[in-house]
Amino acid sequence: MNCLFCKIIAGEIPSKKAFENENIYAFYDIAPQAPVHILVIPKAHIESVDGITAENSAIVAEIFENIPKIAKAAGIENGYRVISNCGDDACQSVHHLHFHILGGAKMSERMA
Ligand code: AMP
Repeated sequence: MNCLFCKIIAGEIPSKKAFENENIYAFYDIAPQAPVHILVIPKAHIESVDGITAENSAIVAEIFENIPKIAKAAGIENGYRVISNCGDDACQSVHHLHFHILGGAKMSERMA
């Protein structure tokens, strides 16, 4: 499958790992939009939030169980934002489900 994040999981494209277990991989965004910017992805390919189903949603719970630990381990101490862009209007550029963790500085109250 020609998916950038599947290649990162396979180690075919380098990344700076922030966390990994059997089902999840987290790595630093190549173009950070905050002092700490990490992407958390399921190892199994899911296109986007639109691809979450009753059959695969356990991975989403597992990702969210781990996000606080990943944020803390990355040194985020005073709050963070979790974002998932889904589809064209949200400017999703990589079609493998991912959750951005943004932190390390005070953010704008506006989200879009
Ligand atoms: P989105 O626009 O929500 O689909 O997010 C995709 C994110 O992947 C962007 O923030 C990119 O900067 C990031 N990205 C693209 N290629 C890489 C890469 N090779 N390593 C790390 N992050 C990447």
